[in-house]
Amino acid sequence: MTPLVEVTDLRKSFPIHRGFLSRVTGHVQAVDGVSFKIGRAETLGLVGESGCGKTTAGRTLLKLLEPTGGTIKVDGQDITDLDREAMLPFRKRMQMIHQDPYASLNPRMSAGDIVAEPLIIHGEASTRAERREKVAALFQRVGLRSRLMDSYPHEFSGGQRQRIGIARALALGPSLIVGDEPVSALDVSIRAQIINLMMDLQDEFHLSYLFVSHDLAVVEHISHRVAVMYLGRIVEMTDKRTLFEAPLHPYTEALLSAAPVARSRARQRERIILTGDVPSPINPPPGCHFHTRCRYAFNRCNTEAPPLREVAPGHLAACHLHDAGVKVPLARPAGVAALAG
Ligand code: SF4
Repeated sequence: MTPLVEVTDLRKSFPIHRGFLSRVTGHVQAVDGVSFKIGRAETLGLVGESGCGKTTAGRTLLKLLEPTGGTIKVDGQDITDLDREAMLPFRKRMQMIHQDPYASLNPRMSAGDIVAEPLIIHGEASTRAERREKVAALFQRVGLRSRLMDSYPHEFSGGQRQRIGIARALALGPSLIVGDEPVSALDVSIRAQIINLMMDLQDEFHLSYLFVSHDLAVVEHISHRVAVMYLGRIVEMTDKRTLFEAPLHPYTEALLSAAPVARSRARQRERIILTGDVPSPINPPPGCHFHTRCRYAFNRCNTEAPPLREVAPGHLAACHLHDAGVKVPLARPAGVAALAG
């Protein structure tokens, strides 16, 4: 069956301008050859540290940013080079829930008008009465009283504002929603409510999600599969359970070892402290981007970028250790010591 979304070798770079003449002096390679598929009614979690390119990947998938390279297919149709007009039918099917429910809603519009706006833009409701009826139904579906339609964003709590954002995303009956850290700005007590709402909506409307987050506990809860990004590249991707219980990439291993929820649920893991900062995406290290922080790194890692490949059924990882037949995790394997140096 054709996946709903198929992204192949997606790239997005941003020019760096310097000097009086604003000359281009380099590029930030924010997304550096990313490939993944999302099935119908499936959630792919996209995790990684701040600045790894996950938000840019989500925005590029929706063509809110123009890709620099690669292809994006939706329902088997290549949308990579479609112009604004040709994209319109796809825009209806691909929506976004933003991170910050405080900043993403226009403070001068009523909540009802915010949700109705996409209906007006796409000509989905011709009369005001029809629009109000549709918006009232959306309000109810996301757990808001329809009498709040005439209230303004500042009159709502953070959780309610994110419900408005979700109602707006649902207005056009999308197939895919990209959630960009949709619960990070909310109180912990509210997060579970919003995540559960998103899961209920997925069941009801067969929605597919790309769920972008740095929060492993949330990703573990909502995702079916998880992709881990580091400096613009996916370094590991598999089903949620396998990833959390038996990661095969040293970066994933380190992320999980530092995540409190995953730590307490999984077998006791050695805490791995990642030394050094994330290298600059303007000038990433050669070879494996992770080699400057990897406790398993050996000579080959400094010069040769490991491809993302299937190292176990349905389990992709980008690490030379798997060529050497070394099993990550968890303790530094004896075989690695022999490879090092
Ligand atoms: Fe570490 Fe080398 Fe694997 Fe990169 S390829 S994750 S540096 S062992």
